[in-house]
Amino acid sequence: MSNTDNPTLAAAMILGEVASTGLARGSAVLCDCARRSTAIPRREVSEAEAPTEMERFDAAVVAAEGDLLAVQNRVRRSLGEDEAEVFEVQILLMRDVELRDAVRALCFDKRMNVEAAVDEAIKQLSALFASLEDPYFRERASDLHDVGRRLLDQLAQGGAPISPALPDGCVVVTGDLLASVVPQLEGRGVRALIVERGGLTTHATILARSLGIPMLVHVANASERIRSGDQVIVDALAGRIFVNPEAAIVDKYAQLQVDLQVHRSALKDLVELPAITLDGCAIKLAANVGQTADAVAAASVKAEGVGLYRTEFVFMVQNRFPSEDEQYKFYRSTAEHLQPGETVIRVLDVGSDKPLNYFPLPPEGNPALGCRGMRLLFANPTILHSQLRAILRLSASHPVAILLPMIDGLDELRAAKAVIEQAKGDLAAAGQSFNPGIRIGAMIETPSAAMLIAQLADEVDFFSVGSNDLVQFLLAADRISEQMVSTYDPLHPAVIQVLARLVRTATRKGKPISLCGEIASDPVYTKLLIGLGFRSLSVSPGRLLDIKHAIRSTHLCDAEDLARRVLQLSSTSDIRALVLDDWHRRSPVPSPPVESPTSARHS
Ligand code: PEP
Ligand code: MG
Repeated sequence: MSNTDNPTLAAAMILGEVASTGLARGSAVLCDCARRSTAIPRREVSEAEAPTEMERFDAAVVAAEGDLLAVQNRVRRSLGEDEAEVFEVQILLMRDVELRDAVRALCFDKRMNVEAAVDEAIKQLSALFASLEDPYFRERASDLHDVGRRLLDQLAQGGAPISPALPDGCVVVTGDLLASVVPQLEGRGVRALIVERGGLTTHATILARSLGIPMLVHVANASERIRSGDQVIVDALAGRIFVNPEAAIVDKYAQLQVDLQVHRSALKDLVELPAITLDGCAIKLAANVGQTADAVAAASVKAEGVGLYRTEFVFMVQNRFPSEDEQYKFYRSTAEHLQPGETVIRVLDVGSDKPLNYFPLPPEGNPALGCRGMRLLFANPTILHSQLRAILRLSASHPVAILLPMIDGLDELRAAKAVIEQAKGDLAAAGQSFNPGIRIGAMIETPSAAMLIAQLADEVDFFSVGSNDLVQFLLAADRISEQMVSTYDPLHPAVIQVLARLVRTATRKGKPISLCGEIASDPVYTKLLIGLGFRSLSVSPGRLLDIKHAIRSTHLCDAEDLARRVLQLSSTSDIRALVLDDWHRRSPVPSPPVESPTSARHS
């Protein structure tokens, strides 16, 4: 029975939350974008079975190599040649005769099944690489691990983590979405993402936003209510999905799509105009970037530099830790796109919802409160050191600054500064140049850092407020938890009061302060943030013109009045009502054609 034979499915409407704005129409594909590695099956094979196991190995190599080449091509197209180059080594390793010989010996002599043999051979060879003097070969150990993971994926599932056959123009429906999977969707013609769980500030969402893919999260039971092949309209403006919609709805959305296009091309007229309020108050608008493609997008909308370079996204699309030289090249490429603006490079902030496949971390009950950010870097000094050296070397020729994530207080800040001094000393001893006065900034994203901002101000050159984490820690509400959606609210009065205090104190201490969390990229918040005193925002490149439009439509005195009224309120719902009411009277985005039964929360 086709879906249209079923009257209950006709024009079914499903609600969700807008994580990345836009409209899309396409054919649904259900897939699992959150599959983590499974256990490795182990068994003894008979002599007669050994050749079959080797045939499985050879087939897995061919399939994994094809997959790797496809990933490499996509990365080359969307991120650049440098990023794509690192896959070359893996392709060579996968074809390496030593690996095949080792697997063969284990299958034939030790009677291992091929999965166990691959696992064992990879362990043996990477231990060998890791023991070598030459740092180049030592780094290849992590490439080997990734090769092993790809081969085991092939052997276990006969495929890549997500369906390799996503048809062009599809809408992906998934239970969850791992950040590391999002780059794989790029260039596959995915028109929209429908996620059952997910969150507004998860890194998967941040990546989808930076790729401009419309996305709805918290879509209850999406994979039961939508079937592969269903025609869906994803309204990531009002937060709803129409499944197999009737012609009238299709026509209305076609018109809305045209209106949106008109709005977007009108925004392009703002590229050359300054980000100033109607009464002339200048707001610095920098960009949040993660990969070269973001830097290109940021440059195309004339961002005033990079306010937040999430280097973990560079690490995430690799299959091993990039070397110091590779990092230098990535950072240089971004800095060059944004010159003469400054590029603020945040040192690696992995852990919690930003895992690296090739750097497994011990499980923790509360990873968001665990070993992440600077803590993780202090525990892994070689990673920190090579990253600092790459950034410092770049500072010799480009305007770059260092940003420290998840700082929890003075001791940690001083310890981080000591490591930076040590890296400078090493470079000086090796005769390598760098900018000795490179600016150092601290993220304010823990309540302790927010409390101590006055003291921290004496030790840093600038601050960047990470509201995504600050909100989660202030409200004790997990930013990626589905259950916390209504609790995790940046318009909570405690959050607003802390933001107001942060700007006040930093300004009094003469230290520049910017805000780079996701609320900076949402025009609903722009007027309030200006009213609270923020004069510098770092935003997703795809939203920069929307934010500039919001700035250019605001009078500073109105913004200050809004902030004053908000600061007098002590209930989140009152604040939300006030801010949304103010926004709806100004919103330039065309209204969706069908009234939503509930108002979607904005992001
Ligand atoms: C933040 O926490 O607001 C932030 C910008 O850092 P991230 O989203 O990468 O954790
Ligand atoms: Mg953060």
